[in-house]
Amino acid sequence: MSSNIKIELTKNSKIDTVDFNNLPFGSILSDHMFVCDYKDGKWQNSTIQPYAPIQLDPSAKIFHYGQSIFEGMKAYKDTNNNTLLFRPLDNHKRLNKSAERLVIPQVPEDIFMDGLKKLLEIDNAWIPTQDGSSLYIRPFMFASGNGFHASPADEYKLIICTAPSGAYFSGKVKVLIEEKYARAANGGVGFAKAGGNYAAQFYPTQLAVEKGYNQVIWTDDNTHEYIEEAGAMNIFVRINDTLITSPTSDRILDGITRKSILQLARDKNINVEVRKITVTEVVTAAKDGSLKEMFGAGTAAVISPIAGFGFKNEDFDLPEFENTFASQLKKYITDIQTNKVEDPYGWRVTL
Ligand SMILES: *Cc1c(COP(=O)(O)O)cnc(C)c1O
Repeated sequence: MSSNIKIELTKNSKIDTVDFNNLPFGSILSDHMFVCDYKDGKWQNSTIQPYAPIQLDPSAKIFHYGQSIFEGMKAYKDTNNNTLLFRPLDNHKRLNKSAERLVIPQVPEDIFMDGLKKLLEIDNAWIPTQDGSSLYIRPFMFASGNGFHASPADEYKLIICTAPSGAYFSGKVKVLIEEKYARAANGGVGFAKAGGNYAAQFYPTQLAVEKGYNQVIWTDDNTHEYIEEAGAMNIFVRINDTLITSPTSDRILDGITRKSILQLARDKNINVEVRKITVTEVVTAAKDGSLKEMFGAGTAAVISPIAGFGFKNEDFDLPEFENTFASQLKKYITDIQTNKVEDPYGWRVTL
């Protein structure tokens, strides 16, 4: 299959303009991109070409009906200069799960994996080696077919771009427990990485930022009594020594970081519960001191500790202490990702 990828290399590499010791997150794009078009009912031959703007018809359905999905993953280098991926087949499976819900064609595994591997081979020098840095990988797919008829398009594009990225520093994160807006509903698309989900999050998040918070804790759309996600991350809550996360559902994205943390926590003998978390129990635990930690989990930041939260005009600070579950689990998972320890789970893929 790889032999079918048409390769056109850039004549003007930008790599010498990049300060790898001072990388932002996700805003410097590597030299090449992988592109595969779907038309006439099938995937066409794919290409790897210089990273550049693409042309689309103004009536392309992505602009009008939002048929668009994406994935987020990372490539790492170990000290032997091997390129490593973390559970990439899970990203491919989830891309297709999102695609099904948005009536976007399924992508065969070989097109996705061969394209990704070839792209990483070509832009190998873009994978940072600095501790905490990685190559952020953004596969996405959208309706490139034309027409104002409100129906699925007949043409799609799959693109994979990469961005060398530094550690995702969020500083002290203060979050607001949402009482009015929702990011997802039963029967909706919350479980999919659909672009529109994020567009719909921006307004409530902006309101929270205006009130002095960094992020929104999403609650269920029906009652707002249950805590579901932290911004665009899955959420974990530690009450006493029990680590709790919400079960996945129509409304909650099945994060790869979330499920890896669950497995690691269980294997490190941390008491884990996967169950609904009420806002009331979190507020009560904050008041009586049994709420030890809250953190978000997702590919970009891996684990993002929450320093405090607001709810109904009251603010609650979380305790600061050493050796938190968040820091322990972040180390376990990043050590596996970067080949600093054995990987008993078979999660790490060496290219
Ligand atoms: C991507 C995402 C996550 C985290 O998924 P990972 O596979 O761990 O990166 C969690 N919640 C939402 C809403 C997301 O979009």
